[in-house]
Amino acid sequence: MTVAPHFQFKDGVLHAEEISLANLAHDHGTPLYVYSRQALHDAWEAYRSAAGDRDVLVCFGMKANSNLAVLNEFRQLGSGFDIVSGGELARVLAIGGDPARIVFSGVGKQTWELQAALQAGVKCFNVESESELLRLSDVAVALNLTAPVSLRVNPDVDAHTHPYISTGLKENKFGIDIDDAVRIYTLAATLPGLDIVGVDCHIGSQITEVAPYLDALDKLIVLIKALQANGITLKHLDLGGGIGIRYTDETLLAPSVLLAKVFAALDHHQLGHLQLVLEPGRSLVGNAGVLLTTVEYLKHAPAKNFAIVDAAMNDLLRPTLYDAWHSVEAVTPRTEATKKTYDIVGPICESGDWLARDRDFALAEGDLLAIMSAGAYAFTMASHYNTRPRAAEIMVDGTQAHVVRPRETVASLFSSETVLP
Ligand SMILES: *Cc1c(COP(=O)(O)O)cnc(C)c1O
Repeated sequence: MTVAPHFQFKDGVLHAEEISLANLAHDHGTPLYVYSRQALHDAWEAYRSAAGDRDVLVCFGMKANSNLAVLNEFRQLGSGFDIVSGGELARVLAIGGDPARIVFSGVGKQTWELQAALQAGVKCFNVESESELLRLSDVAVALNLTAPVSLRVNPDVDAHTHPYISTGLKENKFGIDIDDAVRIYTLAATLPGLDIVGVDCHIGSQITEVAPYLDALDKLIVLIKALQANGITLKHLDLGGGIGIRYTDETLLAPSVLLAKVFAALDHHQLGHLQLVLEPGRSLVGNAGVLLTTVEYLKHAPAKNFAIVDAAMNDLLRPTLYDAWHSVEAVTPRTEATKKTYDIVGPICESGDWLARDRDFALAEGDLLAIMSAGAYAFTMASHYNTRPRAAEIMVDGTQAHVVRPRETVASLFSSETVLP
């Protein structure tokens, strides 16, 4: 069994749904991102069934994976989108996504991005500072439009996750200090061009416990009551994203467990009428993708064995950025040979260019490896460092493979550059 239900071994070869990854590598080359359509649908279903008949809007945190084919699956399933840039807005509009199901997050929204989102008619701006609130009011007035706003508050809870992906502590750059929120909501109520519609928080990522969410919710409920006492009523409460996935042996927080507790708390405080907005990213796509790579060279140095593969930190940044652990599977495991302990590294000229460390494998040059759980924060973080074309992306649907982004060509990487006359 691998960590990802839709990537399993059949007759000794790792498959995506019904297709052999060895065949995909042969047909499309490596490095290659492969996604499972059914895995996206199953991950969505966990949220849909957890919501039951309550008013819940799930807005896919699309910075995790913004390929149009992925977005279009979620659009068809009824998802909204949590965007963090004007570029992401353009992607949602390109697939015919409904702007009324878009929430716009991010600490540094620029004027053109505020304008584009206002003109598109997004559901809500999750405002992260007093300055942004003032700028949004000005931009809305100039366009003769009204901006629906939530404040993203920072509830100062510890999500017990990696420091780089923890966002709800007082020392993080995100959100408005919850102790300042009533004052800034009161200010928002006096500004032209704004319509207060909700409250928002997002406390971190790869969260595997329910307690941080409930701590944040308790603080938001106190805030909502204080706002009510000041005559400010809200329509929705956005708890952000952050639910973790299984990279190795993590115990998982199921959406059903989280939502049952959230609904109970809201009902207990007579706030059951509020729409609940969620912004899951990783948990909708993380285990729906793998990165396929070929072993180019084996190098047996005195202190270490290295498997030098054709994928690198420019394809998958998470290991070196977050010290993240990805499970790695041989696509066709060699059961007869003895194993050695390898660091799996890329060809880029950086010591930080590693994908996995200290893994036991029986390998030969030319073997295929699958880096698992590479559906989230993987391709979207890819770069051209070392003038490496970005990998192709494939979506598998049963026995069918669709190229949803072709491999880039080397020539395209510098075709817009010019030299001085
Ligand atoms: C990144 C992000 C998300 C998605 O987080 P996941 O951990 O991938 O679920 C949701 N909301 C905001 C504001 C984000 O920045």
